[in-house]
Amino acid sequence: MSKRRVAYYYDPDVGSYTYGLGHPMKPHRIRMAHELISAYNMLDKMHILKPKRSSPETMTSFHTDEYVHFLSKVTPETAEELTFHGTRFLVGDDNPPFEGVFEFCSISAGGSIEAANRITSGAADIAINWAGGLHHAKKREASGFCYINDIVLGILELLRTYPRVLYIDIDCHHGDGVEEAFYTTDRVMTCSFHKYGEYFPGTGTQEDRGRGKGKGYAVNVPLKDGMTDESFQSIFEPIIAKILEVYQPSAVVLQCGADSLSGDKLGCFNISMQGHAHCVQFLRKYDIPLILLGGGGYTVKNVARAWAYETACALGIEDTIDPNLPWNEYFEWFGPRYRLEVATNNMEDQNLKDGSLDRVRITALEQLRELQSAPSVQVQDTPRESLGHHLGFEKERRGSRNELDERLAQHARLVYHLQESDSASSVTSDDESWDSDESSSSNRRQTRGTSRLRNGNVDRKRMSILNNHYYDIPVNEEGFEHYDINALGKTGKRRYFYSGARWDDRYQEIILGQSKPYGGGALADLMQKGGKDSDVAEMDDVDEDWDDMPIDP
Ligand SMILES: [Zn+2]
Repeated sequence: MSKRRVAYYYDPDVGSYTYGLGHPMKPHRIRMAHELISAYNMLDKMHILKPKRSSPETMTSFHTDEYVHFLSKVTPETAEELTFHGTRFLVGDDNPPFEGVFEFCSISAGGSIEAANRITSGAADIAINWAGGLHHAKKREASGFCYINDIVLGILELLRTYPRVLYIDIDCHHGDGVEEAFYTTDRVMTCSFHKYGEYFPGTGTQEDRGRGKGKGYAVNVPLKDGMTDESFQSIFEPIIAKILEVYQPSAVVLQCGADSLSGDKLGCFNISMQGHAHCVQFLRKYDIPLILLGGGGYTVKNVARAWAYETACALGIEDTIDPNLPWNEYFEWFGPRYRLEVATNNMEDQNLKDGSLDRVRITALEQLRELQSAPSVQVQDTPRESLGHHLGFEKERRGSRNELDERLAQHARLVYHLQESDSASSVTSDDESWDSDESSSSNRRQTRGTSRLRNGNVDRKRMSILNNHYYDIPVNEEGFEHYDINALGKTGKRRYFYSGARWDDRYQEIILGQSKPYGGGALADLMQKGGKDSDVAEMDDVDEDWDDMPIDP
């Protein structure tokens, strides 16, 4: 096996954060993995880098300004108020507003972004960030222990250089946040292998294949309990080989969620450490630039084992390392066997029992063949237009934001600040103007209104990753309604919060959908009006430009 230049991103602080006593997500596992990697003397075989922490502005390449602003401010004490009584941003119990949550996110995201930059610069063949892989985070809401989607942010970096990026997800849970982010584009192909059926997040069937230009570029491989190494390999290899052939990605991002390992506290597969790492070995053989990210994984000693072993696989030294664990700071955690292995058990493989594994494989390969024969599929370099802007993610290239961008961002934060501090009535009415369809055309009502959580007619449920049960999002007594983070999948439209502000040439000034320059009074006026007059319709038109993209019928 030829040598690969490996860059390894690690911030020693990451293991110090805690989601709270008894919470299954333990950032400490990343430190344990690191100590094991260090004890195996792998650190001198790769570039060890401490990533720059991601700024809030960088996070808004994907997430909404108001959500990032919220995360940067929230504390355990202020969460109730800032989440509008648990109706926004952090819904349910899965994502606690723990002490330091924003720094934790900035470490996780910073690592994935820098890993992407390292790859695109050509300075590394494989880049690793075990603190990343938080695939459930949504544009404007935390989900499944994930707050900021470092994967989406990393892929957006890759797309500045590469025409096509393949995202592969072997976490036990569906990679819903990443799939949703790139659901309408063919520049990112997502492929998730996951448990499906009464299991968080409840999405990821083989019918979910992408929309519009992205149709066919989301691949889902729904699986059942008890997946073994053999079963997993028998479905992973042919599907990934076919994707690599058809799609020819410029880079691959592999989310190595370790809750697919046997014996995981929240997982339900029966895969060994070797079986899990086989995915890394398989991709390394292709010699395509590769990013390895962490993800789920709740039996911490096994997470540490798997990620240490997969680091060895990235280096190509896995055959040389001692199966007996070297002494390390957390040695006693690895008892009673103290070996570099994750044993399987005798649970039944439900995928073989009913023949579903074969059916799922056949369907996936058929879908990929269809994609191959589709006339629109041309594997050639696409122009490097700003995908982020196209999807409504990105305002400008990071680091070169122009004045308008800065002012828009400031404005968005100002509006949000007023939202927080203003009275309940204006909060409600102002939110209506951004997030409802009431003030706009019937067309918009039709396309977006169906997914709104209005009048209790639409989905206001979430599933908890802790117990895989659905729960209702609380109704805010003050009438501040929740919105649907999954609007894209149902309507084909993306909504991007950037407020109604826009540049006015006449005044060389930002205006708020009003015919006069932005001033102290304009915002207050708008909020008073509740976003329901003609000025607001104008706002909405501007908003359309920001966040909508054409979807094939
Ligand atoms: Zn998971």
